[in-house]
Amino acid sequence: MLLDVRGKSVVLDMEKERTIKGIKIKSFNSFMIVVACVLYAMLLYATAQMTTRYNDFIKYNEEYISCHEAAVQMNAASDYLTDQVRLFTQNMNVKHMQLYFQEANETKRREKAIASLNKYQPTDDELQALEAARGSSMDLMEREFYAMKLIVVANGYDESQVPDEVRKVQLLAADKALSNEAKIAHARELVYNRGYMDAKALIKSHTDHFVNSLMRHTAEQQRASMGALDKSLLNQRILISLLFVMNIITFLVITVLIVRPLSVYMKCIRDKMRLETTGAYEFKYFAMTYNDIYELNAANQAMLVHKANHDPLTGIMNRSAFESLKALLKQSTVPMALILLDIDRFKGINDTYGHDMGDRVLTKVGGLLHSFFRSEDYPARIGGDEFVVVLNDFDEENRKIISHKLDLITKELQNTADGLPAVTLSVGVAFSAKGYSDELFNQADKALYAVKDAGRNGMKFYDELSAETKEA
Ligand code: GH3
Ligand code: MG
Repeated sequence: MLLDVRGKSVVLDMEKERTIKGIKIKSFNSFMIVVACVLYAMLLYATAQMTTRYNDFIKYNEEYISCHEAAVQMNAASDYLTDQVRLFTQNMNVKHMQLYFQEANETKRREKAIASLNKYQPTDDELQALEAARGSSMDLMEREFYAMKLIVVANGYDESQVPDEVRKVQLLAADKALSNEAKIAHARELVYNRGYMDAKALIKSHTDHFVNSLMRHTAEQQRASMGALDKSLLNQRILISLLFVMNIITFLVITVLIVRPLSVYMKCIRDKMRLETTGAYEFKYFAMTYNDIYELNAANQAMLVHKANHDPLTGIMNRSAFESLKALLKQSTVPMALILLDIDRFKGINDTYGHDMGDRVLTKVGGLLHSFFRSEDYPARIGGDEFVVVLNDFDEENRKIISHKLDLITKELQNTADGLPAVTLSVGVAFSAKGYSDELFNQADKALYAVKDAGRNGMKFYDELSAETKEA
């Protein structure tokens, strides 16, 4: 709570508080914290999503490469078997038969490739193609076993050394009856003729269908994951841009709401001025409060100065102010008049009507002096019932004005319509041709006492006193 010099409490106007318009730093701050948290969380999510999509992309890439590799292996294995069976029918070296079965039963490149492709979850259509390829492949191998059996029989190889698949083959009676050369020729025909080539082509078309479809499928996933990765990157770029914009907004708002008002306020305080109400709500509130205190302080100071210089009872200047004025007027070079006034038998007023009534009479005298003299004149109460009026820049030739004014004042003091007792004044007047001096005061004092001596209720000019009175 703030107090003015009279001890009265001053409460800052709550209405004023409500009328302040402006962004609250607190609200802006909370808002920006929420926005930043949301944006950072989204950015974090986008980054995590990007990692997932990147991993997907890599996975589909690897899948594509491994599909391609499997396709190459399947064809290579198939061609290898064909090569070995053909070589066996050509040079009849059992080594080729062994290599054939090594590939078919141990290395199993075809089976392994198919197994590796199966893990990519082929569709029903793809599985159907694979089954068809497998079926055709079995048929073709049967044909190859038969050709090998013909070679084994034609060469009279020890059948116990021959793989089961070949040994178990039962030759047709017509083929059994063939000569060894014919058997060999038939075997060669079986692995070189059109039927063999067509069967191989059929298997290849089934496996190609299977692999191509799987690769197409993988390529689609690869493209989709690439698109998703692009989208994630775009999202990330958008979020980073938003964060950048948010930062710029924050800097601008801080500048407008905080930095600028602070420098404006510092300048105002340095220049001992009221604060400009600018910036955030809090700063405006601060400025308005500061301005209220500033005004209150100025008013208090003015009041203190007034109190120090004015008589609280009559409202005109007091003795201390008159003493200060004297120092100033001593520097003056203009003519002036000094009027000294004392209420006659004022003690009696106090005694008869009471002190309060006496106070009211003093107030009345002060008020009359204040209203009858000019604004550039200085009425003052310098003692209990003693008053003074300095008429600055006043020529003694105008003394009639003084007489006239005092007549009017005396007349007013005789008027009891206001309920106050009639009082009279003893007045002494002295003139100075140039500024104030203690001599001027003494002269006015002498004139006043000459009136008192003469029985009171009157006015005398010092320069009109007799020589003896002046010397007394
Ligand atoms: P004189 O005609 O010789 O001036 O007689 P007086 O009774 O007026 O005598 P004097 O001027 O010496 O008396 C001044 C009186 O004024 C003395 C005091 O009781 C009274 N007084 C001084 N200050 C105040 C005041 O503030 N209020 C009131 N009511 N009386 C005051
Ligand atoms: Mg008196």
